[in-house]
Amino acid sequence: MRYVLEFFTIILPHPTKFCQYIILLIENFNLYSDEDGVKHIRIKARPNKWHENDCPFCHKSCPAYDKHSSRPTTWRGLDWGGILVEVEYQTHRIICLEHGVYVAEVPWAYPGNRFTKDFDLTVAWFAYPICCARFTLNIVKGQP
Ligand SMILES: [Zn+2]
Repeated sequence: MRYVLEFFTIILPHPTKFCQYIILLIENFNLYSDEDGVKHIRIKARPNKWHENDCPFCHKSCPAYDKHSSRPTTWRGLDWGGILVEVEYQTHRIICLEHGVYVAEVPWAYPGNRFTKDFDLTVAWFAYPICCARFTLNIVKGQP
């Protein structure tokens, strides 16, 4: 442990600055099977304390509007080899002077979405050829 700390001290003269770039912390995870026999992994995550009150739109740190919700919110992630991935966190709201009261930003999902960013981007990547094919077909037909 001492050597690891010395390594970081040598490499990183300002370790607190380095910690600001780690925006996601995994607290715990739980692997279980539901009544249908489907395996799930539920990851309890949270934003770094420097980012836990960020506005989802301007990304500025804002004052908290209320405490964490009573029930955790779950986001669906990309599967890991047949295991359904869920990310869990108890969200709270912030008040941004520019945008108003919103649920604080979480680094793994876009605002208001219940899927992770990786999941959304993968779906968009799969849907892109369908959109292009339809657009090309409309051009061939002479339709806008
Ligand atoms: Zn804002």
